[in-house]
Order: sequence, then C-alpha cells, then structure tokens
Amino acid sequence: MSDLVVRAGKLDAADELAALRDRFVLDPVSDHAADTAGVYLDGNSLGVLPAVVPDRVADVVRRQWGELRIRSWEESGWWTAPERIGDRIAPLVGAAPGQIVVGDSTSVNVFKAVVAAVRMAREAGGDGRDEILVDATTFPTDGYIARSAARMTGCTLRPVDPAQVPGALSGRTAAVLLNHVDYRTGRLYDLPSLTAAVHAAGAYAVWDLCHSAGALPVGLDGHGVALAVGCTYKYLNGGPGSPAFLYVRRDLQDRFDSPLPGWNSHAEPFGMRPEYEPSAGATRGRVGTPDILSLLALEAALEVWDGVRIEAVRAKSLALTDFFLECVAAYVPAGRVESVTPYAHAERGSQVALRCPDAGDVMERLIARGVVGDFRHPDVLRFGFTPLYVGFADTERAARVLAETLAE
Ligand SMILES: *Cc1c(COP(=O)(O)O)cnc(C)c1O
Repeated sequence: MSDLVVRAGKLDAADELAALRDRFVLDPVSDHAADTAGVYLDGNSLGVLPAVVPDRVADVVRRQWGELRIRSWEESGWWTAPERIGDRIAPLVGAAPGQIVVGDSTSVNVFKAVVAAVRMAREAGGDGRDEILVDATTFPTDGYIARSAARMTGCTLRPVDPAQVPGALSGRTAAVLLNHVDYRTGRLYDLPSLTAAVHAAGAYAVWDLCHSAGALPVGLDGHGVALAVGCTYKYLNGGPGSPAFLYVRRDLQDRFDSPLPGWNSHAEPFGMRPEYEPSAGATRGRVGTPDILSLLALEAALEVWDGVRIEAVRAKSLALTDFFLECVAAYVPAGRVESVTPYAHAERGSQVALRCPDAGDVMERLIARGVVGDFRHPDVLRFGFTPLYVGFADTERAARVLAETLAE
C-alpha cells in the first residue's frame, strides 16, 4: 500500500465529519472496501441526494397536496416556506434571520439584486451613476443578466477582473456584480475588502455565492454585505433546479425596489388591490407563487446541516483539496496537468481545477471509471470537494484513477 493510501486512511479515521456521509445516498460501503466505489466530485454542480429527502417529498405530494390540498398553504406552512427556508440557510452564510428569501433561479435573483442595487445607488443622490461593473470571468448567466439590467437602467456595463475592481470604481459606479468563488478556476475572492471598496465609492456590491454557500464561511452580516444571491443545488444539496436565495441586508430592505414586484411581495397579497405596496422585510424579494415541491425538498435537504459548523466544513475542504493536489503531484507526471486553482488557502474555494489540452476526452474516460468531475470549456477538468460526503480515501482514489487515465 502506498504512503498516500495509508495517510488517507488515517485522515478519514480522524475526520470529525466522516459520519455525515451516512446522511446521503451514496455507493455501498462494500464498493469502497473493494476499491471499486465511484467517487463523486461534482457536488459543485449538483449535490448528492440527502437520505431524508425521498420520504419527505412523498409526504408533501401524497398527504400535503393529495389529502390536505389547498389547506396546506396554511396548515403545512407552504405560504411562509420562502422565508422559513431562508432562515435555515442564513447561519450557513453568516446572516441573522429575516434577511434571506428562497425562490426563483439564481439568474432571476441576480436580475432583482442588480437592478435594485442601481436604484439604491441613485436614490442616495447619485443621479450620475450610470455604470455597472461585472466580474469579467463570471459564470455567463450573471454577465448576460447584468447586460440586460444595464440596458434597462440606462447604464453601461464594464467587465473587469475582480482583483481590479477597486481601481475601476468611480463616482459613476452604481453596482458591482461579483462571484465569491470563480466557477472555473475555484479562486476565492476577498469579499470583505472588495465589499468595503465598493461601498466606499457609494455603489452597491451584489455577491454571487453559488460556489461558496455551504462550502465555506461567508460572513454576510459581519462584512456588511448589502445584497447577495446563491443557488441551493450545489453545496446545499437541494436537488436539480432547487430554488435560489436572495439576501437583502436588514437596514436596506425598505429601500429594496424590486424590478419584479409580483403579488407575493405585496404588503397584503390577499387584499388583491390594484395598487402595489411592497411588504416589509425579506418577503419583498419574493415574486410569484413559490415552487413548493422543490422548496420543501430543499428544506428537507438542509437537515443534513443539523449540528454541523461551517468552519469545520471549511477546514476539511482545505484539507481535502490540499491532499488532492498532493496526490496529483505524486501520481501524475510533471507537466501533464496544470492547476489553475490557487495554492494559497485564502484564495481557494472548494474545488480543484486542472488544465490539460485533452480535458474533454480525459473527463469522459474518468467518468466511465466512476470518478465524476466535470469538464469546462475549453481545457479544464473540474473536481468539486463536498466535505459532508467526500473523504480522503475517495480523494486519493480519484487522483490515482486520474493518473492512470492520463497515462493511457
Ligand atoms: C451555478 C451558477 C449559476 C446558476 O444559475 P441558475 O439561474 O440557477 O441556472 C449562476 N451563477 C453562478 C456563478 C453559478 O455558479
């Protein structure tokens, strides 16, 4: 047995989060013993199914919908689910209750937040603010949505490298849309200092937390973040297409002027009045009728976080990605792949991205051998590490299979 296999065993034995794996539906333990188990390193794209979800969804469908029918809006708590589930996500991103609402996709929430940010920046005497900055390397949907938000608000859109944002700010800046962790490279950006710089310029930052929520401490309240969005089907394991979340800092909620003021965000939705009057609080971020089946699947999925500290998750995440990089360096011939993920912990999210010219083909062969990561155009192999259910033996095995695949 190699040193790395022995080390992996010791690290797994000492891992305080190891037992959490039982809260998920994964390949049988016997497969692990036989070294034939699959290794799922794509939780940054679609999290694994938590074991409590299937029965809960069956109950929601059969009893809440099938038997209680319309009474469930009250009796099963359907109507208040967006805020209730937002409060459940809140501690994972460092937010006090009453500031997060769950619903719609991340794309839609980016739109709400960016337009609201521009409106807030102008309201504070900033009529001349006519520029939106966007992370030049962003996940494309954020850029597409920001461009449309800019057109609608009469702003120009300027793509900038996130590290260059402080130098690009001016009296014209209204809003800045940033990713906390880059989806391709896994680079973690400095949220506290970038937020402070944007606010000091009189603009508002909108943070996209898709690759940090559930992976590392975000500290929204602590860092004075104004607006943030994130998805729930990656590190929060909410299921395919589970609804996203929107954070609006408490003291800004009265000024949050949604570009999608649907009836669910009305102060009195069942008043059915022709005039719109926004509700107070986080509910102002709601739009239309919530997607109850997906929402309640997400609510069940969030139970896996009971008793789990996000700081412990972060510590294990860094240990896993360190160990993966070490195993890759030991097993893969030098120069065959190149890590585009920073080595510095302060700049690393919860994934490792390796570049190699034949990445698409390599990933196909890896997946055929049970090691599931993903390929990002044009040359990136992406491996996501979800500390709740990925262990060190998995990590060693993934690196070993990668090396074998690259050698074929
Ligand atoms: C995954 C992801 C999204 C997904 O947006 P949807 O509207 O949920 O499809 C958006 N932004 C980033 C940065 C992402 O990583």
